[in-house]
Amino acid sequence: MPPHLRAAYSIWRGFGSAPGPQLQLHGLAAAAASGAAAATASPSLHTFSTHASPSTDLDEEVVVIGAGVVGLAVARELALAGRGVLLLEAAGAVGTETSSRSSEVIHAGLYYPPGSLKARLCVEGRRLLYSFCAQHDVPHRKLGKLLVAASTAQVGALETLRAAAAAAGVPLQPLSSGQAQELEPAVRCAAALLSPETGIVDSHSLMAELHRQFEAAGGTTALHSRVEGGSVGGSAARLHVRDAGSGETVELAAGAVVNAAGLHAQAVAACLQGLPPASIPPLHLAKGSYFSLAPGALATMGLGGSPAGFHHLVYPLPEPGTAGLGTHLTLDLAGGVRFGPDVEWLPTGTDPAALDYRVSAERAAPFHAAIRSYLPGLPDGSLQPAYSGVRPKLVGPGRPAGDFVVSGPRQHGVPGLVSLFGIESPGLTSALALAQLVARRLEEPPEA
Ligand SMILES: Cc1cc2nc3c(=O)[nH]c(=O)nc-3n(C[C@H](O)[C@H](O)[C@H](O)COP(=O)(O)OP(=O)(O)OC[C@H]3O[C@@H](n4cnc5c(N)ncnc54)[C@H](O)[C@@H]3O)c2cc1C
Repeated sequence: MPPHLRAAYSIWRGFGSAPGPQLQLHGLAAAAASGAAAATASPSLHTFSTHASPSTDLDEEVVVIGAGVVGLAVARELALAGRGVLLLEAAGAVGTETSSRSSEVIHAGLYYPPGSLKARLCVEGRRLLYSFCAQHDVPHRKLGKLLVAASTAQVGALETLRAAAAAAGVPLQPLSSGQAQELEPAVRCAAALLSPETGIVDSHSLMAELHRQFEAAGGTTALHSRVEGGSVGGSAARLHVRDAGSGETVELAAGAVVNAAGLHAQAVAACLQGLPPASIPPLHLAKGSYFSLAPGALATMGLGGSPAGFHHLVYPLPEPGTAGLGTHLTLDLAGGVRFGPDVEWLPTGTDPAALDYRVSAERAAPFHAAIRSYLPGLPDGSLQPAYSGVRPKLVGPGRPAGDFVVSGPRQHGVPGLVSLFGIESPGLTSALALAQLVARRLEEPPEA
């Protein structure tokens, strides 16, 4: 993240004394602004009364828990709709957890069961995201993806995928082996599909722009602010928020709450009294590690010319019974090549607050084998451990992946609360569509 943004995110916060504890927060606009004129034009010092009594004003106030890409998109959506929004983030900056550990791929929406939230929100979210990026200068590129059948035995599976994608309104162009090789000379396959709608995005710039718009619309961010308890279902929600600096806990009242805590969404839901525990789905964690290509490997593969490297994302067919999309090749906006993520189920009960994100070099051997099925020229020893992320899955190993869960009053019976569970891939692609869905669900009354 650029240093000037990091500095801007270091938002000052503290606690007043009278008439009771008060949480004072500067918006990003104020933190970033310099000079009296800018400060006058952007009076974004907000004071939230804690232990506030329920009021009409309070009904307009929403607390969003978690400032990953989804919480940021939700907070922006609600602030633009005129709600007073407080965004609480446990870490010292926005977007430091799963949202900064993804492949940064804008998915077309090929893989998800028809009618699922993943299928619908990926397609809607992709359209919204391309338009948002173009409108607000967020770096991105619609470079397309090759989906390759490594052997003739897999060609039928390509056709099945193409038919399912067409039914979902996602175009895929069939390619012969030769046509695929023209696009990517180092790739070998029996046949391929080209997905022209797939792209990549600079996720950090995206989150910075969402955050900027949120605060420009009057929203307020509190970093170092972890929700540790509270209650929902009364005339107002109450949240216990611990300040990481002082260790002090304050109680906030809010008209509505959105739980967008990612890997910690189940823990946050479980600490809210008044929410039926049966409405909280189980959590299964699946780590995904990435390897990058060592310097010089492109030249060894004959890809050192100009323009150098790969020009499309390259995916094998998804492996049935596994929780990932196969060991694929993705690119960043600078043309850097990385492979992954693989799937490593973490033991049941692993604490999402104590994850080990290191990538073991020992995992390189299965990566080499999987990648060579479509990239036979990959040189020995050319993979370097890069980074990893952890998927918040709702279904464990060996079973079909679960859908996103956006649990609102109709689902759990508590007014003014929406929780997001299982927001794994394609959560980045879907973030803007998820935000619109959350805004609608927040308004729903519980079932009679
Ligand atoms: C390996 C991997 C690769 C992926 N690749 C892609 C991809 O290419 N394309 C795509 O579309 N999607 C991809 N995804 C999915 C995407 O990254 C996620 O769906 C998305 O980032 C989830 O965002 P989030 O805001 O829900 O969660 P997070 O980014 O984890 O944000 C949650 C935030 O809540 C905060 N928080 C937690 N508990 C509390 C608390 N008690 N109080 C206050 N704050 C709290 C955390 O600090 C965190 O900042 C990938 C995911 C993984 C794991």
